[in-house]
Amino acid sequence: MLEYNNIFIDGQWVPACSGEFSTLVNPATEEAFARVPASHPQDVDTAVAAARRAFPAWSRTSAAERKGYIDAICAGLTERADELASLISQEMGIPVHFAKGIQVNGPIQGLSIFGNLAHTMEEERQEEGYLVVRDPIGVCAFITPWNFPLFQVIAKVGPALAAGCTSVLKPSEQTPLACFVFAEICEQVGLPAGVFNLVTGKGSVMGDALSTHPEVDMVSFTGSTEVGVQIAKAAAGDVKRVCQELGGKSPFVVAPGANVAKAIKYVVKDSMFNSGQMCVQLSRVLVHEDQYEEAVEVARTVAESLRIGDPTDRGTFLGPLSSMRARDSVVRYIEKGVAEGARLVTGGPERPEGLERGAYVKPTVFADVTNDMAIAREEIFGPVLCLIKYRDEDEAVRIANDTEFGLSSGVWAEDRETQLRIARQLHAGQVKVNGPAFSFAAPFGGYKKSGNGREWGASGLVEYTEEKAILLGG
Ligand code: NAD
Repeated sequence: MLEYNNIFIDGQWVPACSGEFSTLVNPATEEAFARVPASHPQDVDTAVAAARRAFPAWSRTSAAERKGYIDAICAGLTERADELASLISQEMGIPVHFAKGIQVNGPIQGLSIFGNLAHTMEEERQEEGYLVVRDPIGVCAFITPWNFPLFQVIAKVGPALAAGCTSVLKPSEQTPLACFVFAEICEQVGLPAGVFNLVTGKGSVMGDALSTHPEVDMVSFTGSTEVGVQIAKAAAGDVKRVCQELGGKSPFVVAPGANVAKAIKYVVKDSMFNSGQMCVQLSRVLVHEDQYEEAVEVARTVAESLRIGDPTDRGTFLGPLSSMRARDSVVRYIEKGVAEGARLVTGGPERPEGLERGAYVKPTVFADVTNDMAIAREEIFGPVLCLIKYRDEDEAVRIANDTEFGLSSGVWAEDRETQLRIARQLHAGQVKVNGPAFSFAAPFGGYKKSGNGREWGASGLVEYTEEKAILLGG
């Protein structure tokens, strides 16, 4: 059993005030494999006080100095990449060979981009009669989810470090292990005490202490829309800045006449990745009526070809879902889809053959889905794809935008003009055209109930700053 006995506050490893611990369960085996402290809200006070004390000196460091720390943290993470991938795989089920790329090396690349952007904090804009400068916003509280445990942390801690902010992180209670490693690396590279602090525990216990703390200037949250709203309300009393990265129900428009085989192969694999537990999952696939049955057949073939099972096996595409609770919720949605009259093309609520233990769900494709069904409107957060029929491009765009979310979206078309014409009409923070890789430099964030604010790259850094105008008199 892996044991972490302390949390990281003010550059020290200290016991949580509660004296309590919580156990982590591997969703592939359903067995407990690690134990971490369950912090108490009082730990938030100590951590925020440390972050507040550290802020004046850290905010005055040069950009070059902050880049130096960020580069050293990147090197530390790179050295421990295999260990991180294994921990994340055990916490939340992603196959370990995928974890190394998207869960570890990707975020390291994103962090290094923030190091390279630190110098922009020293840029000033001279205008007629005034000067514009940027200050770091101050002490930040971070609350993150379990589906990309290190990725979501670096999306917040990275720009905070680059901007000159200090922070207190509370990761998901299901997936804190990579954060302990991150804190160990911060200690090892000599990051000044209090610049980064780690507390643990459940959101229901710790959340209010972070989002209502009078010494916290900004709260950045990634997770469900429901909790994001609660946090924004709690933070409103002190007029804190709140950044919310929330849920999604993203559309993928296969343009009329597009290469359906290529488009569907891409979207099935993309949407089943991480067992579909992605806020950006392209979960509603819109196909022209003339190409619809072809699309259904390709989706069936591709979904049935994806290997599901042991996340330590290099041949595995889908591991288990992150927990048995997550599995139950996804299975209920699959049953609901059948009850709503959608056509079950492949998959279903039963356990995959040969996997009697673990939070496994078969990759599931529904056809004849209409956009008013619950499976088309609500975030399922599992390996479930809905194929929706449309008659012309205008209808495709209308259905695509008929959602309360607006995080991601996708288009597949054969010519740039069609790609961009459709992309420009979609109401979402990102549009993926013909299957690009994730960009750690491009702005990322939601329209509508998918959130407020942007993460990653230059736009992500700006979120952590205040813009100041110095008006120049005589
Ligand atoms: P969640 O909202 O249940 O939990 C997220 C975090 O909030 C966890 O750290 C949790 O402990 C904490 N929390 C829970 N209740 C709280 C409360 N009352 N006050 C304060 N904090 C509280 O979400 P989850 O199940 O961990 O993650 C899945 C959700 O996250 C999905 O809806 C998904 O779309 C969303 N998500 C969004 C993005 C994005 O960038 N937009 C990325 C990943 C996940």
